[in-house]
Amino acid sequence: MAAAEADFDLVVVGGGINGAGLAREASGRGWRTLLVEAADLGSATSSASSKLIHGGLRYLEHGEFRLVRESLHEREHLLAIAPHLVRPLDFLIPHVPGAGRPAWMVRLGLLLYDLLAGRSRLPRTRGLRLDRPPWNAGLRPGPRRGFLYPDARTDDARLVLVNARDAFERGAEVRTRTRCLGGERAGGLWRLRLCRADGGEEEVRSRAVANLAGPWARQLGEAFPEAPPRTRLRLVRGSHIVVPRLHEGHHALLLQNDDGRIVFVIPWLRETHLVGTTEAVDRLDPAGPRPSEEEIQYLIRACGRWLERPPQREEVIWSFAGWRPLVDDGHASASATTRDYRFELSPRGAAPILHVFGGKLTTYRRLAECAAERLDRRLGGLGPRFSHRTPLPGAEAPVPAPPPGLEELAARHGCRWPRVASSAAELGADLGGGLFEAELHYLQAEEWARTAEDVLYRRTKAGVFMSEAQRREVARRLAPEPGAGAPGRP
Ligand SMILES: Cc1cc2nc3c(=O)[nH]c(=O)nc-3n(C[C@H](O)[C@H](O)[C@H](O)COP(=O)(O)OP(=O)(O)OC[C@H]3O[C@@H](n4cnc5c(N)ncnc54)[C@H](O)[C@@H]3O)c2cc1C
Repeated sequence: MAAAEADFDLVVVGGGINGAGLAREASGRGWRTLLVEAADLGSATSSASSKLIHGGLRYLEHGEFRLVRESLHEREHLLAIAPHLVRPLDFLIPHVPGAGRPAWMVRLGLLLYDLLAGRSRLPRTRGLRLDRPPWNAGLRPGPRRGFLYPDARTDDARLVLVNARDAFERGAEVRTRTRCLGGERAGGLWRLRLCRADGGEEEVRSRAVANLAGPWARQLGEAFPEAPPRTRLRLVRGSHIVVPRLHEGHHALLLQNDDGRIVFVIPWLRETHLVGTTEAVDRLDPAGPRPSEEEIQYLIRACGRWLERPPQREEVIWSFAGWRPLVDDGHASASATTRDYRFELSPRGAAPILHVFGGKLTTYRRLAECAAERLDRRLGGLGPRFSHRTPLPGAEAPVPAPPPGLEELAARHGCRWPRVASSAAELGADLGGGLFEAELHYLQAEEWARTAEDVLYRRTKAGVFMSEAQRREVARRLAPEPGAGAPGRP
């Protein structure tokens, strides 16, 4: 069979941040691309992160200089191409002698962080006295000095979404609720078996395949028996809690725990803080990762070490967990296991498959660029680089100032918010938690939203702030109509 008979140049399996990023990269550089996602876009690890676009100060302790440097450079790109979704955030490390790393070590780490960042749009790190607001906000009396360093935060699930949306606008087909069952080579192409949510199966032919199934990458790889991967994954569960605001400052806190780990306290939506995370070695489970009671108590205790008013168990508004799909590098400790990614490209001579393991949210764009270029050595025809300088959807133009009541809409959709509703009068029924009827329709029509979960916990976080009755009402409104949702269209 000639390559001209292929349906696609590349099929990307897995619609997390890395798969969505690669679909954007490949379609934007001229390849006919299909992105298949078994569930919803960003429904696994990529909506369960700490939501930081950061270098990862802590990784310096493990000598991951390449990764930190690349992450800091990517932070710059993402601040530029998605300013509505990636925003600067200051981190304060309170310091008490004898409680955590010595001051010289923190200072050295921050100096390296500055150096590895190179020319950055963010300010340099600095030392601080903590005897006045806002820097002493919420802290127990004790730490008199601290360190401040800049990083950035994002909305992880929406970052996935805008990458998938951009891929679609550049010609990629995006199929959610479509599982790849595996594939075989025939006539110089991959024949991939896909299974839709309705149980129907179909076959597509592609010149190449990229396995970006995150925690399932090894499992998926084994469904390609002619080119299975060798890399082993280590799944490390990380959990977060959301609690009412713990201090008035706008900065995040990096708290050193007595076990040598760190816990972030990050200002989040609607007067809350996001607190995380944990590290528990885990295994694939069809029910998905769940925060254990022990992890929730651990996070509360870690706050109690530093905060005047730590959260109480009954104040936990929401909690969630994700599996870090880490490359098993043989380290005994989960903390020390590398956060870097690894590629395995099938041997030369036949239709290639690229298995991708590991990777951070922060480095997704560069991972996608490298993955496309690795595949190009076998496929050819890849166009010039664009993703580092081309704005993502919602950032193509300055964001028009939203009228009162539409601020959350503008935060989610950037300059595209007027497409959802151009005035408060167009919002329609108030469904609670900051979600309105007009946005619900938009998310279904333009962003592949199908279920209440898609809308309430990924396209928005409205579900966290709704009553049970409000969540049920959204689910009722989303009940599928027969024949809805043609494949490949949002
Ligand atoms: C607790 C925690 C905190 C983190 N914090 C940060 C942070 O602050 N900053 C940062 O940079 N990184 C962070 N990370 C890391 C980051 O979240 C992950 O590295 C990243 O989200 C992985 O994305 P992915 O696309 O590889 O995998 P995933 O997001 O897991 O996506 C894989 C997708 O593949 C799909 N899939 C699987 N099998 C199939 C199949 N057969 N057919 C079709 N689809 C399939 C799944 O449904 C899933 O949607 C954190 C991770 C965790 C767990």
